[in-house]
Amino acid sequence: MANSKYEYVKSFEVEDEIVLPHVIVVRLHARDYLRFCKAHELRRPYDEEALDLMNSCAEFVQRKYPDILFSYGFNDEYSFVFKKKTKFYERRASKIFSLITSCFTSVFVDKWKEFLSGRELKYPPSFSGQVIVCATVDVLQHYLAWRQHECYIANQYSACFWALVSHGRTEKEAEDILKDTKKQEQNEMLHQQFNINYNNLPKIFRWGSCVLLMEVEAIVKYDKDGCPVKRLKKQISTVHSQDIARRTFWNQKPSLVKELGSFVEDIKRIDKDYIKYFQSEAKLMPYTWAVIRIDGCHFHKFADVHKFEKPNDEQALKLMNECAVGVLDEFREVIFSYGVSDEYSFILKRSSHLQRTNPSDIVSSVVSFFTSMYVMKWKAFFPLTDLVCQPSFDGRVVCYPSTEILRDYLSWRQVDCHINNQYNTCFWMLVKSGKSRSDAQQILKGTQSQEKMELLANNFGIDYNTIGEMLRLGSSAFWEEENGCSKIVVQHCNIIDDGFWGAHPCILA
Ligand code: ATP
Ligand code: ATP
Ligand code: MG
Ligand code: MG
Repeated sequence: MANSKYEYVKSFEVEDEIVLPHVIVVRLHARDYLRFCKAHELRRPYDEEALDLMNSCAEFVQRKYPDILFSYGFNDEYSFVFKKKTKFYERRASKIFSLITSCFTSVFVDKWKEFLSGRELKYPPSFSGQVIVCATVDVLQHYLAWRQHECYIANQYSACFWALVSHGRTEKEAEDILKDTKKQEQNEMLHQQFNINYNNLPKIFRWGSCVLLMEVEAIVKYDKDGCPVKRLKKQISTVHSQDIARRTFWNQKPSLVKELGSFVEDIKRIDKDYIKYFQSEAKLMPYTWAVIRIDGCHFHKFADVHKFEKPNDEQALKLMNECAVGVLDEFREVIFSYGVSDEYSFILKRSSHLQRTNPSDIVSSVVSFFTSMYVMKWKAFFPLTDLVCQPSFDGRVVCYPSTEILRDYLSWRQVDCHINNQYNTCFWMLVKSGKSRSDAQQILKGTQSQEKMELLANNFGIDYNTIGEMLRLGSSAFWEEENGCSKIVVQHCNIIDDGFWGAHPCILA
């Protein structure tokens, strides 16, 4: 398709390929889970149904992406370990963590009812995710040891905390009592004051859960004598093990050893430098315009499966806009957004403090929240169509150094909208008039904008300029002052010319 003069803005996108031999781990955890627990009345210190839901989401993700060999999760978090030589999304960090986080969120919302029946989802849950790069299997072993240690520490504390609260202490008092207490003291407190043996609490709570691809013997058929014929079949299963970072666990899993290597020795002490490394991330460039762009994953197929109208399903676009409005409301530092087809770009206020947090956090949180909204709001926009597969989005963040370049970025997206929409309108009119898809493609090959306008006018009596603005111009969602109060509006306007920006000087101030 034709290029525009704005295309140069693509050069600001940074390369983030994770090169071999590094192992890719994606870690995600719920955003503000305490609020979520309270709002949905999850049982404390653990809600087994919520944990089962988390495990079921992890199994789904692992089944969908066979390059994930192993995952480990507890409470509100999950880590996914990819096979060493994965080519998943060309090993691009941003695509990988955003997509996995989005997919997980999508399933979480979709399966909520199945696991937490009777409890309505009150608002869209969201997760933030990041990639952890492990240079060697030893680093990976440290990572797993660290996460399982955290599980143990956090949940023993949690068991004490909620025992105190259920015996009449306030949350503040419980916090004060437990301040600076050691593992042993907490154990004694549970035992002596509350008659709880921590070691008798469920393994899912104390040790967390692992999702593994295992080979199991399964009956595939019966022979003519009625005897079962068994074969080794690969099956995803969830197990609870105390020692995921020990040789006794890891080295006995042939698929893990083959793809990632074996553990040489057990870890005696988790190195502080490793933990520091796992938590470190480069920040975004300050004083620039950061834009988060999300894009639907395989939406040509998603559109087919859900019978979107061609070339443009207006309900689908309105659903995208509704989700964008949700993002603006949730992330107050997003000042403007522009969407077309299955994509949306969100501009962060310059030098916002979101810009000073981890870039992965920002991207994954926005993608996850958007996905969550999309699944939750689906029925409101498609009351007669069931969601037959879970939608997911990928995301990236790009920093543009000046307002002029940011405007060129937006122009690039709007020109793209115009080019695609004009092409698609012609293509689908030709197809609907009886041409085959390949004939339609041939007819349109190499045509300029003017020729397409004429084709539409002469063959179908359509004046392109009268087609709905949302389709031709895309959608902009932003905050606007109206009678002294701010509200989020969605408009379909020209954002290439100066007119819009002149009328809204505050947006890019
Ligand atoms: P942040 O956004 O910084 O991650 P957060 O509110 O999510 O903040 P966490 O420290 O992750 O903070 O807190 C998660 C809390 O949720 C913990 O107190 C944990 O015990 C609780 N929790 C996690 N999973 C469950 C569950 N299945 N049932 C009940 N409580 C849970
Ligand atoms: P990728 O995973 O690489 O993004 P994709 O299939 O999502 O692949 P895109 O280039 O993002 O490809 O294009 C999105 C596709 O989704 C469009 O080509 C179109 O087929 C479909 N689509 C998205 N929104 C709509 C809509 N509102 N109406 C009809 N079709 C739509
Ligand atoms: Mg797409
Ligand atoms: Mg797209």
